[in-house]
Amino acid sequence: MSRIFSGIQPSGELHIGNYLGAVQNWVRLQEGREATYFCVVDLHALTGNYEVADLRRRRHEMAVSLLAAGLDPERCTLFFQSAVPQHTELAWIFNTVTPLGELERQTQYKDKSSRQESVITGLLTYPVLQAADILLYHATRVPVGEDQVQHLELSREISRRWNARFAPDMPFFPEPQPLLTPVRRLMGLDGQAKMSKSLGNTIGLLESREQIWEKLRPAMTDPARVRRTDPGNPEVCNIYSLHKAFSAPETQVMVADNCRGAKWGCIECKKVLAESMEEVLVPIRRRAAEITATPSYVTDVMEDGAQHARTTAQETMHQVYERMGLTD
Ligand code: SF4
Repeated sequence: MSRIFSGIQPSGELHIGNYLGAVQNWVRLQEGREATYFCVVDLHALTGNYEVADLRRRRHEMAVSLLAAGLDPERCTLFFQSAVPQHTELAWIFNTVTPLGELERQTQYKDKSSRQESVITGLLTYPVLQAADILLYHATRVPVGEDQVQHLELSREISRRWNARFAPDMPFFPEPQPLLTPVRRLMGLDGQAKMSKSLGNTIGLLESREQIWEKLRPAMTDPARVRRTDPGNPEVCNIYSLHKAFSAPETQVMVADNCRGAKWGCIECKKVLAESMEEVLVPIRRRAAEITATPSYVTDVMEDGAQHARTTAQETMHQVYERMGLTD
């Protein structure tokens, strides 16, 4: 049976791109595994610029979104990274076996550091903390996007190096493998770039029906479809991508047929999409309302998750210290 770990940045309320690309899959993964750990990686978030009050709000909103989206504290361990100090403890241990050159070769480091005048150390050692996140729980599978595959390779390398030095006969840490599930890459509503909060082209998972329609109505469609009588190509239309994510298969067929045959206008098409989205999003919004009605609920759930995570993490660190000569 696999042990799963995955983390998400505390970016505030989830948008439908995060939901469809990662969290919907997490909800499925929490069933039938040995253990599933989902972590709001607030320590990783410190490597970017942020306002203190804003980070506090974004952590909380992310926790609300994840619970509303269907993560069930009875089935998975959900927690804030900073509530489990063993993440940074193990990261330091791993710093002592990780060659500097490996970190400097990481594409994300090269990309981000090239845009900064003064590069902080945390940006360089970010993937070491990621390795600690995963290996602290002996996770064997990590649901990741393709942009994180290189970091996961480094986690395996760190695991191998530590095992070779401190557990040569019987590897202590596993070599975690990526779980590359079919990721739905959603373009933003502008149809120009990936859905991203910083670009302002998203739909929030908890937005109201009216707010969603305000965004859908002017959203980009097939640019070749200028008049209602012009046949469209659904495969190049972002609205059709959303239909594929939210609408029933028979609706998708009908949408594609109406589009290619110029049998309806884009506004009619978007109205059908809005209805399909409601079917998925209404229960999520309802759960969010229930969760926020009890102010202490999120704090209690996240603390229970952290408590459970700390129990496993403490045991891992005990074993690590023993193998490294750090106990009497
Ligand atoms: S009819 Fe629908 S799928 Fe076709 S271009 Fe318009 S919005 Fe896109």
